Amino acid sequence: MKKNCVIIGGGLGGLACGVILARNGYDVTVFEQNHQIGGCLQCFYRKGTKFETGMHFIGSALPNQNLYKLLNYLEVVGNVTLNQLDQNRYERFSFKGNKFEFATGKEAFIEKLSQYFPREKDNIATYYNLVERISNASSLHSLDPTHNDVALSTKYQLCSINEVLDSIFDDEMLKNVICGENPLFAAERDKTPFSSHAFIFDFYNQSAFRVQGGSDAISLSLQNTIKKYGGNVFTGRRVTKIICNDTQATAVEIDNGEIANADLVIANIHPARLIELVDSHLIRNAYRKRMSELPETVGCFSTYLKFKHGKQPYYNYNFYGYDQMSPWYCENYSQDNWPRGYLYMHLNEKPQQQWATSGVILSYMNFDDVAQWKGTPVGQRGEDYEQFKREKAERLIDLVARDLPELKDSIECYYTSTPLTYLDYTGTEDGSMYGVAKDINLSMSSRVHHRTKIPNLLLTGQNINSHGILGVLVGSIVTCSELMSEKEILKQIKDANE
Ligand SMILES: Cc1cc2nc3c(=O)[nH]c(=O)nc-3n(C[C@H](O)[C@H](O)[C@H](O)COP(=O)(O)OP(=O)(O)OC[C@H]3O[C@@H](n4cnc5c(N)ncnc54)[C@H](O)[C@@H]3O)c2cc1C
Repeated sequence: MKKNCVIIGGGLGGLACGVILARNGYDVTVFEQNHQIGGCLQCFYRKGTKFETGMHFIGSALPNQNLYKLLNYLEVVGNVTLNQLDQNRYERFSFKGNKFEFATGKEAFIEKLSQYFPREKDNIATYYNLVERISNASSLHSLDPTHNDVALSTKYQLCSINEVLDSIFDDEMLKNVICGENPLFAAERDKTPFSSHAFIFDFYNQSAFRVQGGSDAISLSLQNTIKKYGGNVFTGRRVTKIICNDTQATAVEIDNGEIANADLVIANIHPARLIELVDSHLIRNAYRKRMSELPETVGCFSTYLKFKHGKQPYYNYNFYGYDQMSPWYCENYSQDNWPRGYLYMHLNEKPQQQWATSGVILSYMNFDDVAQWKGTPVGQRGEDYEQFKREKAERLIDLVARDLPELKDSIECYYTSTPLTYLDYTGTEDGSMYGVAKDINLSMSSRVHHRTKIPNLLLTGQNINSHGILGVLVGSIVTCSELMSEKEILKQIKDANE
């Protein structure tokens, strides 16, 4: 008889596990609390215009590159159209008006960066070679079981980004430019491991794409594939309890009172939310305490821009602006100097797009700034909250307009969200952008394992391996390899791509 697997949360991690297990004979049921699946892949409409809330761009998606292989295995390729960002400048940075760009691919990247820093050309090549070695050292990231250099991976999980860059480069500005993508993983100086930087840089430098029409196309494709293999995906159903007997989980309870029996439960939710669902002696107090005290990545304030018709040229690149010469410490702002930096992107609707219809500006925001409104209902938090958001949005737009003066004239109207929005929509602790933070100064006990203290209750999603499309999909393989071997899943991925 088919094993019955209940997945709590229809974010990327839950849906990807759902596809893997449904393909392999499990009877899969996904329960998503929101009316829309996808978690951070959700999009929303206002006045007929579409906006992206989380995932905005993806990398390594050319045939034969790793994300392409994973998406192909998950049957997303063919159902989703990807449009590549400008290869000559997929990332643009402004440090107080000093502009730099990244080009796609090893040679082009080294060549372009060397034009700004000619004396560092050899060091830029050394850096690139190291990044490649680290990215290939993990069998899961390279999708090749023969690639597994644990010593190298471990070494660079324990060194900070700045420490490694200091050992390679002399030029301070070059080190800052290399870290210009920090917002993609909320990197913190002296804390975030160099391996996180290496994976993200390598992932996007191989090739960078936007999902045509918005990243919700990925979650819809995964949902359809689960259904194709006989599984179910239910929205508007919040799991309120994981029911256990003396040894394991047996069922979950839904907020409408329904009970769904389970041979296996996979939780695609933040660990702090998970422990709230389990009232069993199987979860000891020490585990509860550890899961509720994990360090979080910073949250973000988003300003969603609706542009006037035919006014804002579409930018086929991402734009990062810093109100300082360095990308570091943007999370350590005061109310006077916020925002210290931002990331600005447009929604892609078609190839060779001429005009943008919507875009988003993201800037770090700590949960403390909005804690006073915690518990208020979405959309009814009060006029003081609306006023707070308007002030922040105006400041953020002012900062972007210093680099891109044409922006203000292009905006028809804007909408906003805060860390509170992410807490309420996804359940991620403190509305953090990328879930649990990695910190080289903390012991391995600050890392979240996919196994829990209950044998048939597993975790998946951005908190167990890493965030982002690749981090979460690799995390889904880690979770599912508890049920089938990792080798078998990697073989299936290889077979799907032959
Ligand atoms: C602003 C922002 C920008 C980003 N940009 C990018 C990008 O450009 N590229 C990229 O690759 N990544 C990006 N990311 C990261 C990426 O979107 C996330 O890492 C990833 O989508 C997380 O997926 P997940 O499945 O782990 O969690 P989530 O997306 O948080 O999904 C968890 C799901 O569980 C549901 N849930 C929670 N509790 C319950 C319950 N009790 N019952 C039922 N359902 C429940 C939630 O509603 C949610 O749908 C971005 C993230 C943010 C916040």
